Amino acid sequence: MNLEGKLALVTGGGRGIGAAIARRLAGDGARVIVTGRDEAAIAAIATELGGVALRADLTDRAATDRLVAQVRAVGRVDVLVNNAGIAESASLERTDDAMWDRILELDATAPFRLIRALVPAMVEAGWGRVVNLASNAGVSGYGYTAAYCAAKHAMVGMTRALAIDLARTGVTINAVCPGWVETDMARAAVARIQAKTGRNEDDARAALVSMSPQRRMVQPDEVAHLVAMLCDDRARSIHGQAMLIDGGQVLK
Ligand code: NAD
Repeated sequence: MNLEGKLALVTGGGRGIGAAIARRLAGDGARVIVTGRDEAAIAAIATELGGVALRADLTDRAATDRLVAQVRAVGRVDVLVNNAGIAESASLERTDDAMWDRILELDATAPFRLIRALVPAMVEAGWGRVVNLASNAGVSGYGYTAAYCAAKHAMVGMTRALAIDLARTGVTINAVCPGWVETDMARAAVARIQAKTGRNEDDARAALVSMSPQRRMVQPDEVAHLVAMLCDDRARSIHGQAMLIDGGQVLK
């Protein structure tokens, strides 16, 4: 993909899928701003890529507004990748207001606020790419994940609605919907299964892996490849889609 001359902002870029996306976009020629909560992690990636690290907790709206000002001082963002997210699971009774708010704020509201702040300049320039890291939980339901599924469905719904608004601007917006990806998030899910069921690590991991017909986890660089593909100029007709990358777990 050719992203020479483009400025990309990747949220949650210090590790996992976000770090893979930052590396891939930089490899394709973009200058990358990496943001996240972990100062040392984002600084390491930014240094490696010759990019910029800007720390922000995206559940803090004032901090997000400060981040937007800092980003604008670096330049006009051409590619926005809303990747930062949290996943927590709980029964209905144990999904308290704090958990609901925490997940909705980071996984749905923060991406919306960044899009609202940064997309108008893309529209003015006549070119832009927004990629939202949703999940197959954004197009399907899973047990004990009401808040996460609600947030990821919100992300997909927002993507589809804004695709209409942006259709004639040169800006595309899409959602990427992975199944289980081999990152800290999946490792935390394995640990939760172990704690709740007493299974050993291999059996707990097998329970997640067995959800995919391919019987494997997606690797972060596979997701990064899809994101880079969506950012390429030749992907200009791919718009408003929720693209599953889950080994066929959800077949629609
Ligand atoms: P991860 O937990 O490894 O990384 C999440 C990133 O988000 C980290 O860099 C973290 O610092 C950042 N982050 C968390 N809270 C933040 C906050 N308040 N402010 C700013 N940054 C914050 O997760 P991952 O697996 O790399 O997931 C990346 C995205 O992909 C998430 O949106 C997740 O929901 C989605 N996803 C992951 C999987 C999976 O199996 N790993 C599957 C489907 C979708």
